Amino acid sequence: MAKITVVGSSSMDLVVTSAKRPGAGETVLGESFKTVPGGKGANQAVAAARLGAEVTMIGCVGDDHLGQVILDNFKANGVYTAYVEPVTGVESGTAHIVLAEGDNSIVVVKAANDRISPGYVDKAIQAIREADIVMIQQEIPEETVIHVSELCRAHNIPLILNPAPARPVPQAVIEAASYITPNEHEAEILFEGQHLAAMLRRYPGKLLVTEGKAGVRYFDGIQEVVIPGYHVEVVDTTGAGDTFNGALAVALAEGRSLPESLKFANRAAALSVTRFGAQGGMPSRSDVEGSL
Ligand code: ADP
Repeated sequence: MAKITVVGSSSMDLVVTSAKRPGAGETVLGESFKTVPGGKGANQAVAAARLGAEVTMIGCVGDDHLGQVILDNFKANGVYTAYVEPVTGVESGTAHIVLAEGDNSIVVVKAANDRISPGYVDKAIQAIREADIVMIQQEIPEETVIHVSELCRAHNIPLILNPAPARPVPQAVIEAASYITPNEHEAEILFEGQHLAAMLRRYPGKLLVTEGKAGVRYFDGIQEVVIPGYHVEVVDTTGAGDTFNGALAVALAEGRSLPESLKFANRAAALSVTRFGAQGGMPSRSDVEGSL
């Protein structure tokens, strides 16, 4: 079984729908409210676990009610939680989402996710050493991203860096990562002022740029290659990138070639957009291996 360790965020999305978005100082009546587990780290861990990998999460939740719900959700999805600590006196990470007037506005409170320090990761070093592949995103402190990249390099463990949300990344992290998976917007921020074609050539087989329904682009050492996406009826694209990354990790950890792994990731991500929600849309192994 593929062993994957994720160092990343977990949070609860608090989603209200409303006909009207309130302005400053205004109160409006909403239509519905729901809580949905999220956070890029948690989403990618759940995506990989649904696809049959043995997944260990390294992260933090608050010692509040939401922290327990987040932990229960990990367990329900078969994610190993011994390294997800409820931090005393801290709130769980939350995203406050208003869906109104055909658009969303979001306030993110990082809270416990900011407690995922380099020292905290060191306490879970065994989960990194034993992994076939490690996965990180950017909803954790930058110093922790740097530290994990150094640990993976030192222990010779392949590392997938999903540079989301978009922010510049220290060059040493780019060099240490085995795979980097920005979408087009994140790639622009990551390599600001540089031509993407040049960056693809500079990082052959490593820089994998997702292009929505078009699929994923990389340089194979000779030419630019696009592994095409699958044509599906779109219901909700939330979590497409997270499903893509979770599935990519699983396929690579199982020893598939890069093109095969990208195809598998495209299939999984395409299936995820046919259903509502980030984790809600994530496919099982048999879903992906069935016909598309
Ligand atoms: P993000 O969700 O992070 O913004 P993308 O939009 O590039 O990233 O999507 C990630 C991957 O999800 C794509 O490479 C593709 O495999 C899949 N995907 C996204 N949108 C669609 C779509 N409309 N139809 C089919 N596959 C999609």
